[in-house]
Amino acid sequence: MSQSILFLAHVSEAGNTLPKVSYEVLGAAVKLTKQLGARLTIGLIGADVAAAAETVAAAGAERILAVAGPEFASARYPSDAAAAEALCRAAGAELILAPATSRLMRVLAGVAHRLNGCVDTHVTSLESVNGELRATRWHYRQRIEAVIRRDARPWIVLLESGCEAAWAGASGVAKVEQIPVTLPQAATRTVVSGVRAPKSDAQTIRPDANLLFVAGAGWTKKQADGKTHIDQAETLILEFLRASGASLGGSKSLVDQTGESQAVLGFMTHLNQVGQTGSTPRHPKGLSACCHGEEPHVVGWRFINERRAVNLDPNCGWARGKADVLYVADAFEVLAKLNAILAQRSRTSADAVLQP
Ligand SMILES: Cc1cc2nc3c(=O)[nH]c(=O)nc-3n(C[C@H](O)[C@H](O)[C@H](O)COP(=O)(O)OP(=O)(O)OC[C@H]3O[C@@H](n4cnc5c(N)ncnc54)[C@H](O)[C@@H]3O)c2cc1C
Repeated sequence: MSQSILFLAHVSEAGNTLPKVSYEVLGAAVKLTKQLGARLTIGLIGADVAAAAETVAAAGAERILAVAGPEFASARYPSDAAAAEALCRAAGAELILAPATSRLMRVLAGVAHRLNGCVDTHVTSLESVNGELRATRWHYRQRIEAVIRRDARPWIVLLESGCEAAWAGASGVAKVEQIPVTLPQAATRTVVSGVRAPKSDAQTIRPDANLLFVAGAGWTKKQADGKTHIDQAETLILEFLRASGASLGGSKSLVDQTGESQAVLGFMTHLNQVGQTGSTPRHPKGLSACCHGEEPHVVGWRFINERRAVNLDPNCGWARGKADVLYVADAFEVLAKLNAILAQRSRTSADAVLQP
């Protein structure tokens, strides 16, 4: 009998689609299903999964299962774990692929235990080599890549975002089988009473952006005139982020200055830090300015495909093979010029739209 794969996902809380990473994982599941000649089942969790199910109706799944209802609208360990467990049992799959969203990351290790199976998180690829499944993930801050093979089944694999092309297909009519789950009272004790999020203009971390812009401590250092120019740095960077839609990263030295109560860029927090003790974002392109390019920082650029840097120092870390292109230039001048070009472009495209 052929293998069975379950693609497990939850509906995004904001709308009726799935989070973007889910479509990437569905892409991986569809590819693997074809490679292995397996059967694909889709399992969805949410308040109402009908609209989301239509977006994946053409993915070639034999069955679309759902655990749905108001009690499954928000992330909550007992209800999410019960829903995921019921879907896994109903699908009877040997391999369960799920997106590494915070909601599923929290529950699927527990679900694997309940199913007497195993789980791997932070997986970046999953492929079949001569019929044997191999998952890869990074260790030691993205310095060592491990290949994982497992005999235990079911095997739950949580895939990271940005590693696979998103599955794209036309929406269609979806036949959804509802899987009943009765929650004990204790499972609904925790209630989400509201969401506090930063104001949208303060939101500088944009995982889906094409470009990662990284600011280093140089922005706060004394410049050629012997003075610092923090206000100017803030204005230039914010204008660039607005005009380019880039995501903002920071070096450790820069974000640490907040804690040391020095004058800093007001919008930069520890969440922006990229590197060994920071994050490892995934973007097609990266531009670093006023950052030296030291190894503990650059290890956070592991998954940036094309790297460019602006530094006054022609002998900086980037120059030693860490960037594809290094501009030996003053970042204040470069960003002012870039902002002028971006403003000119948006005026030209606005004019083009306004032309009769
Ligand atoms: C265990 C460990 C973990 C670490 N983890 C991290 C981490 O996660 N992330 C991280 O970032 N760092 C990390 N570090 C620190 C890291 O080694 C570096 O110290 C840090 O990244 C340096 O930051 P920086 O380049 O912004 O500052 P600096 O080293 O001070 O460099 C500033 C640069 O700005 C340039 N500059 C100044 N003015 C201009 C201008 N007008 N135009 C252009 N260039 C200009 C200068 O030439 C200089 O190269 C870690 C260190 C250790 C030991």
